[in-house]
Amino acid sequence: MPRVKPPTPHNDGKWTDSRKKSFITSALRGASHRWGPKHTAMRRSRIGYGRYRCEICGAVSGPKGIHLDHIVPVVDPALGFQGWDTFIARLFVEADGYRAICKAKCHKAITEQQRLIRQEAKKQKQCVS
Ligand SMILES: [Zn+2]
Repeated sequence: MPRVKPPTPHNDGKWTDSRKKSFITSALRGASHRWGPKHTAMRRSRIGYGRYRCEICGAVSGPKGIHLDHIVPVVDPALGFQGWDTFIARLFVEADGYRAICKAKCHKAITEQQRLIRQEAKKQKQCVS
């Protein structure tokens, strides 16, 4: 079956729905770098000059070894995108909505866990349709 080209009703007829959504998502994520509570949360885990403690396992690393994680994922791995209101509310949380975690162990483990949940949810969806 030939692949049907998706319609491009956005940005002067150049963008698909998906391209427009990705543009907005990326603009909002960019703005979140200037969101104060994010920096407050990062300072909370700072234990000395350029040294941060993982809020889960306690490992100490430099700023590049630490990742600021949303405790409630911005996009729920099981449910997927739930609309802009939910996306924005979860992206711009107060400092207690973040945790500074080590990239090497804790962030890697959480990412893997969420990947498995997404994969399982995708399988479930395919079974229903
Ligand atoms: Zn850790």
